[in-house]
Amino acid sequence: MLKKYFSFFVILITLFYYDQKVVRAYDYIDPNNKSSVQEMITQIYDAKEQYEDLVGNKNKQDEIILASNNLFWWPIGSTETEEINGLLYAKGEPASIKVTSNFGNKESFRTSKHGGIDIGNAGNGPGVLNIIAVKAGEVIYPVKDSQTTYPDNGYYGNPDGGGFGNYVKIKHSDGTYTVYAHLAQNSITVRAGDVVDQGQVIGKMGHSGSSTATHLHFEVRIGSDSSASRAYPLDYVDPNNPRPMSYGSGNSFSLTTTILSKEEFVGRMKDYYKRTNKKGFYNNFVLNAEEIYDTSLANNVNPELVVVTAGTEENWSLSAACQYTNNYWGIGITNGKGCNSGGKYSSLSEGIAAYAKVLNSYNEYGKYSEAIKNRYNERASANCDPSGYGLPGTLEGMQSMYSHIGEYRYNPGGSGLGGCYYLNIIYGKSYCSTVATCAGSKNCSKESQTTICEQNDYTAWQIKKKVQLRYDIFGL
Ligand SMILES: [Zn+2]
Repeated sequence: MLKKYFSFFVILITLFYYDQKVVRAYDYIDPNNKSSVQEMITQIYDAKEQYEDLVGNKNKQDEIILASNNLFWWPIGSTETEEINGLLYAKGEPASIKVTSNFGNKESFRTSKHGGIDIGNAGNGPGVLNIIAVKAGEVIYPVKDSQTTYPDNGYYGNPDGGGFGNYVKIKHSDGTYTVYAHLAQNSITVRAGDVVDQGQVIGKMGHSGSSTATHLHFEVRIGSDSSASRAYPLDYVDPNNPRPMSYGSGNSFSLTTTILSKEEFVGRMKDYYKRTNKKGFYNNFVLNAEEIYDTSLANNVNPELVVVTAGTEENWSLSAACQYTNNYWGIGITNGKGCNSGGKYSSLSEGIAAYAKVLNSYNEYGKYSEAIKNRYNERASANCDPSGYGLPGTLEGMQSMYSHIGEYRYNPGGSGLGGCYYLNIIYGKSYCSTVATCAGSKNCSKESQTTICEQNDYTAWQIKKKVQLRYDIFGL
C-alpha cells in the first residue's frame, strides 16, 4: 500500500516545495495550457480518492445530505441575462464549468486545506462572467459598500477581504451556506439582508484578494457558517447537470402517492431536523412521521404533501404551547391565528385524515375539480405564466384554488394587507404600500381587485415554495 502511494507523494511534495505557497492549480501552471490544466485536474481527483481511502469517509450526516442535494445550480451564469422585476437572472448554459482546483484533498500536504472549488475563467478577464446564487436564500455578506471595492489585483497572500477579496455569502433555508469569492471590483449587486432567488446574478467573476488568476472560489458550508463546516462542493453543484430541470415545475409532485418507503420518509425528516434544528418540526412532524405516513396513504394523499403544505404555513419554531395542537391542518400549525383557532381534532390521525379529505377535493373527481378547470381556462386565455395554472390532480391546479387569498390588493376590514402583502413579496416591496397609506392610494383601494395574472403569479410563488421545501426535506 505504501508503495502504491509513494510516487503520488513524491509528485505532490515536489510541487509543494517547488512553490512554498499552497498547492493550487493557478499558482504554478499556465491556465491557458489546456493539457497541463487537465493533467493537474486528473491528479487532483486521484488525490481526492486516495486521500479518502487513507483517512476514511466523511461523516454519516454528510452522506445523507449529499444524496439529496442535486438541485443546487452551478454558480456560474451564462453571459446572457434577463431582467425580471428589476432583478437580473442568468439565462441559458453556464459560461464556464471547468474546475481548476479541487476541494480539500491537499490538506495532508499543507497547513490549511482548500475550503472550496476554483472554477476557471474560460478565457475572460475580471468583470465579465456572471456569478449566480446556486439556491434561493438571504445574503449575509457583504454588509457595507466598502467590502465590494477591492481592486482586481490578486496575488497569493493579498489580504483584501480576508483573502477572499470581494465576496458574497448566502444563507439558505436548509441550513447550508454558500460563498462566492474573488469577485470583480464594484461588481457585487447584493447586500446583507437581501433575499435572492436561485439563478439571480449577484456579481461578476474577478481577481480580487488572494487570487492568482481570474476565477471563482466557491464554498458550501453545512449547518453553520464556519470554516469547519465546509463540505465538498461537487456533491452539491454539478458541472454536468448545471441547471437541474426538475426545479420549480412541481410536475413530479404527486398529490396521491410517494416513491418513498416509510423508512426513507421518516429518515429524511429526521435528517432535515438535524440540518435545521427546528424544534417545532421535530415535535409535530418527526415524532409523528410514521403516523403521518400511514394515515396519509390510507387516505390516498401523498404524505410529503401533508408535511410540505403544513410547513409552508409556519416556521416550525413554535413555542411549546403550540406544539401539540391537532388543528385544521392536522399537525399542529398556527396558520397565523394562534395555536387553537384552526379547529381541534381528538387525535393526530383524525386531523390528518380530515386534512387529507381537503387535499383530495382538488383531485380529478374532487369537489373543486370543475372550479380548477375554470381557473385553468381563465388563466390560459389571459396568457398568464403557465407555471401558475394546472388541471385537477396537479399541484398547480390545487394551488390555483388558494390564490383567492390575494384577490384584493387591500383586505377590507382586516388588519392585514390582503393581496398587497403577497404581491409585495412576489413583485418587490414597493408594489403596494403599507396598510396605513394603502387605503387611500390608487393601487391599494378597497375596491382594487388583483388581476387574474397577479393571482396566477401568487399561485406560482406558492408552488415554488412548496417544491423547494419538499426538496429541502425529502431531496425530491
Ligand atoms: Zn479557491
